[in-house]
Amino acid sequence: MHKIACHECDLVHDIPPMPERAAARCVRCGSILFRSRKNSIDRTLAWTLAGLVLYGIAVSYPFLTMKSGSIAQQTSLLSGVEQLYNQKNVALATLVLLTVVLLPLIQLLSLVYIFIPLKFNLRGRFAIPVFRLLGQIRPWSMMEIYMLGILVSIVKLAKMATIVPGLAVIAFSLLIFVLTFALSAVDHHMVWERLEKDL
Ligand SMILES: [Zn+2]
Repeated sequence: MHKIACHECDLVHDIPPMPERAAARCVRCGSILFRSRKNSIDRTLAWTLAGLVLYGIAVSYPFLTMKSGSIAQQTSLLSGVEQLYNQKNVALATLVLLTVVLLPLIQLLSLVYIFIPLKFNLRGRFAIPVFRLLGQIRPWSMMEIYMLGILVSIVKLAKMATIVPGLAVIAFSLLIFVLTFALSAVDHHMVWERLEKDL
């Protein structure tokens, strides 16, 4: 038995152990206190591992190839950042490096660090700060916006040159979804409960 406060009206409830796929509602205002999810650990891990594979492809394969006449220029995620840096767009290069390259990797690795031990009823030494960090990073991940920017520039550049999307574009687009699925499979309530258990 543990306590949870309603997000809407702050009424504190005692929550008994819940069956899978059940929802607990506030007795006063009826809003949902939390939902227990089915196979949350396995689903989170499966999406996370798929995410790592896609991430590997997204950073190591060509992103776009631009062809104009006999000149072809290939760009990858990292060489794109490097080009921005060389063009003295240091702020933009840093922003892209952080939000597109580093944050997704940190999110994926944090999920691995928390959920592989949880799967075996263990807990990593820094699991609590890492899980807290994971919650704080989420609003800063701007992969979708980056993807939109790329689509806009493809449309613009298509008039001047032939643009061939590389394997990394597909991997990166899929990664946006897969990472969202991985994060939404996380059962925060269950994770906190497990993490605090042997404190
Ligand atoms: Zn309430």
